Amino acid sequence: MGPYLGGGGMRPAVFLDRDGTIITSVHYLADPELVHLIDGSGRAMRALQSAGYALVVVSNQSAVGRGMLTVERLFEVHDAMCRQLAEDGVALDGFYFCPAVPATGDCTAIDHPDRKPAPGMLLRAAIDLDLDLSRSWMIGDMASDVLAGRNAGCMGSILVRTGLGLPEDLGELADVPIAADIMDAADMILAHDWPDPSGSAPATARIPAHDRGDPPPPF
Ligand SMILES: [Mg+2]
Repeated sequence: MGPYLGGGGMRPAVFLDRDGTIITSVHYLADPELVHLIDGSGRAMRALQSAGYALVVVSNQSAVGRGMLTVERLFEVHDAMCRQLAEDGVALDGFYFCPAVPATGDCTAIDHPDRKPAPGMLLRAAIDLDLDLSRSWMIGDMASDVLAGRNAGCMGSILVRTGLGLPEDLGELADVPIAADIMDAADMILAHDWPDPSGSAPATARIPAHDRGDPPPPF
């Protein structure tokens, strides 16, 4: 049981990008058959949920705005993802998507209040789900994800390498922690919340080894 369970008041959340973070990236994903969890996604999300974090997916879906994907189809894809996550005992607390079509290809430019890097989806979720943004995190595979978390006032944001690739030069985001994958990112979040009391040990994985599916670290 994490420190956030059992008390009243606002919960922290982990906001999650979908494509390239929870599931493998497929360009304009419209087929539920093509939904594949990235290895460890379910276990990582279960660990975060067990620690008291609400799990909220925030996804840019310009394919909807472009007329290439119906909302019904989007939810079929979403349901396919949820069924796979349920096999790992995960139930999402929220799912927000933004259908807006960007005006430019610059993923750091805000051109709609909901489309990442704008914080609209995160801010709405905070109201809907009574979330404490100042103790919340954002995990994603693109600069727009990190910026959305930052713009929403999250405690931190983490990039993952499971997307289509990070730019060589992250520019103003050079100080953002980069995780191998969502499991690694979950480790970072949980280690951040429970720092070693001695202050000297490295931030060890807080996810039980049996949940990780790989051997525990050698310290
Ligand atoms: Mg993504």
